[in-house]
Amino acid sequence: MLRQALLAASHSRAARRIVEIAPGTRRMVRRFVAGETTDDALGVTAELADAGLLVSLIALGEDTLDTGQADTNVDDYAELLVRLGEVGLAGVAEVSLKLSAVGQALDEALALANARRICAAARDAGTTVTLDTEEYETVDATLRVCAELRREYPDTGVAIQSYLRRSEEYCAELAHEGSRVRLCKGAYSAPESVAFSDPVEIDKSYVRCMRVLMAGQGYPMLATHDPRLIEIAGALTTLNDRDPSGFEYQMLYGVRTHEQRRLAGEGAQVRVYAAFGREWYAYFMRRLAEKPSNLAFFFRSAAAE
Ligand code: FAD
Repeated sequence: MLRQALLAASHSRAARRIVEIAPGTRRMVRRFVAGETTDDALGVTAELADAGLLVSLIALGEDTLDTGQADTNVDDYAELLVRLGEVGLAGVAEVSLKLSAVGQALDEALALANARRICAAARDAGTTVTLDTEEYETVDATLRVCAELRREYPDTGVAIQSYLRRSEEYCAELAHEGSRVRLCKGAYSAPESVAFSDPVEIDKSYVRCMRVLMAGQGYPMLATHDPRLIEIAGALTTLNDRDPSGFEYQMLYGVRTHEQRRLAGEGAQVRVYAAFGREWYAYFMRRLAEKPSNLAFFFRSAAAE
């Protein structure tokens, strides 16, 4: 119930105005967002790299309904990628991209053309792009764009959300050699007809998808903080005789930081998904929706200011 309310609020302008001016917001946002500028993002990337972690940077700015804004978002990515190359961090950091930030809601062909520009900049810098998946209505379009991008940029990755009833099918289609698939539970709201809502069903689906990916020929990117799923991932590694270099764990910046370092210390590859930029509102609301105690922390921060 609370999750649904927070997800609905992530699209509300009125709620956005209230959250943006609420005391305590900035402190809470800083916990999940790696700053507002490219310099902030590069600073955080360098710190994470020093701790032995890989990084995926996402420039916030989703749900763009304006071609000019989509263009600006592409330019921001291009600048970020040039800077990553210049400071020597392209070997540890890739970028994540929400197609809604580059015009998906306006026109699929526009989003594809814009994503191509970002993939080209990533290739020039010596790194890769992974497409996020967003609202369930856009998932098939995102997979189509990914398939197109992969013709020219075969290392383009894509996220699959285990809450989708079709997730196992998607994973089976994508578990081929050279593919990079990020498996996550799913952070948006979706109707029962297309998605599981029961957390147990979502977890079971995650395990089924993980089995397919870990047994497949591609490179699985297991994006979860869930201790049970991480344990099962470890068992699947042994079962499938997968080398630590043949898959990675992924976690969000600011979430289970000790676990990120523990896994990396054990020799696993761990990538931290770090979002940055001024358009943090929707991203922040999804992080609140994921864990109700984040909301309590938010209110305590507000009371303390
Ligand atoms: P949960 O059962 O939600 O959480 C397990 C435990 O992790 C919780 O008990 C808690 O201890 C901790 N935890 C989880 N989330 C939080 C939080 N926000 N704050 C504090 N503690 C927390 N979703 C998409 O829909 N599309 C994407 O493209 C996408 N990309 C992602 C990329 C990465 C690298 C990660 C880590 C997540 C991504 N997500 C994406 C979000 C994902 O779908 C989940 O909403 C989120 O990761 C929480 O699920 P979980 O697997 O950690 O399990």
